[in-house]
Amino acid sequence: MSMPKHAYALSPPTIRSLPILGSTERFPVRSIYCVGRNYADHVREMGSDPAGRPCFFMKPTHALVTDDGPVPYPPETSNFHHEVELVVALKSGGRNLAPEVVSHHVFGYAVGLDLTRRDLQNALKQKGQPWELAKSFTGSAPCSALLPATRAVPTVKPWHLRLTVNGELRQEATSAQMIWSIEQLVSELSRYDRLEAGDLLFTGTPAGVGPLEPGDQGVAELVGHACLRFTVVAAGSGSGL
Ligand code: MN
Repeated sequence: MSMPKHAYALSPPTIRSLPILGSTERFPVRSIYCVGRNYADHVREMGSDPAGRPCFFMKPTHALVTDDGPVPYPPETSNFHHEVELVVALKSGGRNLAPEVVSHHVFGYAVGLDLTRRDLQNALKQKGQPWELAKSFTGSAPCSALLPATRAVPTVKPWHLRLTVNGELRQEATSAQMIWSIEQLVSELSRYDRLEAGDLLFTGTPAGVGPLEPGDQGVAELVGHACLRFTVVAAGSGSGL
């Protein structure tokens, strides 16, 4: 079936995509979902109760930083935090997915950072306002290349997540510490929204979140499987962001 051709008034936005390990193809990203409160030790360090429900939010695709590109230090914050997270990429989706079928929809796995203006997030929380501007901005979602599930399962479990900044260990955990499993998270999210091919889910961060500064160099790893290297650059220092 041929699609009707549109004459756009502006050039359409570029499709954002992730490299795929072992392939020359790339993974096109449709939407970026994120989970808050999925590791008990991080929930406690944020002063919340781990018994609560997972909290979902989204980032725009222009938040992605791919191919180990520079991470711009954002404006309107003086407490810019790292959160290292296991990322799940979907090759198909649907509504009301049972946990048992979720693995059939997984394309692969990556390691990413849910970068956060912590000072702004705390101020917005106190006012009972949405977190949006603390979480969703250009450069707030660096992500590694994807490890295809066909190469990962069932040999990898649990996943081992680690973040170092300037050679210093900041965050380390395994996916066995997650309150909600990948299967439970995707199932729960699919009750609220129809998931589609190209969706990413950032699955929450363990304890140890902390500040980044311009000039910092970091390495986030799914240990032995995927690696994200990044440098934080001051706004306007040639990142184009
Ligand atoms: Mn997070």
